[in-house]
Amino acid sequence: MENIQILKEKLQIPQDVVILSHRNPDGDALGSSLALRTMLNSMGHSAKVVLPSNYPYIFSFMDGVDDCIIFDDDKEVALERIKKSTMIFCLDFNGLDRIDKLGPSVDESKAYKVLVDHHLDPEPFPDFTFSNTAASSTCEQLYILFEALGLEQKITLDIATSLFVGIITDTGCFKYSTNSDTYRVAAALKTLGVDDYKLNDVIFNSLTQKQLELLGHCLANRMEIIPEHKAGIIYLTRQDYKDFNIIRGDTESIVNYILMINGIEVAAFIREQPTIVKLSLRSKGDISVQELARNHFNGGGHKNASGGSAYAKLEDVINRFKSVLPNYIKKETHA
Ligand code: 5GP
Ligand code: MN
Repeated sequence: MENIQILKEKLQIPQDVVILSHRNPDGDALGSSLALRTMLNSMGHSAKVVLPSNYPYIFSFMDGVDDCIIFDDDKEVALERIKKSTMIFCLDFNGLDRIDKLGPSVDESKAYKVLVDHHLDPEPFPDFTFSNTAASSTCEQLYILFEALGLEQKITLDIATSLFVGIITDTGCFKYSTNSDTYRVAAALKTLGVDDYKLNDVIFNSLTQKQLELLGHCLANRMEIIPEHKAGIIYLTRQDYKDFNIIRGDTESIVNYILMINGIEVAAFIREQPTIVKLSLRSKGDISVQELARNHFNGGGHKNASGGSAYAKLEDVINRFKSVLPNYIKKETHA
């Protein structure tokens, strides 16, 4: 608890805070960053959220989202802000390579660094790491940090709403990655007035016609099932990106459909991007896609939800995935 005490003391004097989250921020990255920003500003600090790249359009309704600095759009402003910060909070990522070109400036900074996260294998760069891999989301973990700092009473409806967004996006609406704290925290947020029906509707019933047609294309034309390894793959080519005019957020959650097939326990969504091939991996139970992503695709994440990438041809990446897959499937112990 010594670190919590140091953090508590630091937060008694006004600080210049930068809050960072990972590239292609999702609901948890954004929700935790915005919740922390509002909390710190209400305490008299000057807190700014800096993101490596922009967020999906569906999150534009969130409190404070317009005030984020996007590195891709405003490089100098982002770097300058990190340079003059006295404290840096890193939320929802476990290593500096997840924030791309911002990594070196965080590494060089003398600011006091705090990591709040739930990914496996956090790197040792922060002064204080508040990470729990059993937490559903960084938003849940941030709520628990607020409790440890005695700040629960300062959680406003805006803060609660941001935290709730992260919990429902990272658990697929309480379908996976939950623990008893997830429900305890969600109940506390609902008591504060969070409109969970509306949030669910805004976030999960928000597809455009194009996105639904793209999903149809993936399921009808781009899916391959490998029953002997309980696995399924969906891939997208660079041409698909052109044909469907795919933009940020359009492919979100497509990977999850593969796991809806009875008997399928591993899912890979593999897409060919301009310079890189990106993978999103999901699994059930004991199968660790985190190890698979870490060992073969320079990636990581969680045991059942990970990502990675490769500088190779789409076809080669698909073949590499297929060839290493058998090593990660749980061996049946009986005949
Ligand atoms: P998604 O497939 O939704 O992009 O990511 C699933 C999980 O894997 C997230 O927790 C995300 O942070 C992590 N992840 C995705 N891509 C990468 C990557 O390239 N490297 C690492 N270390 N983690 C990743
Ligand atoms: Mn998360």
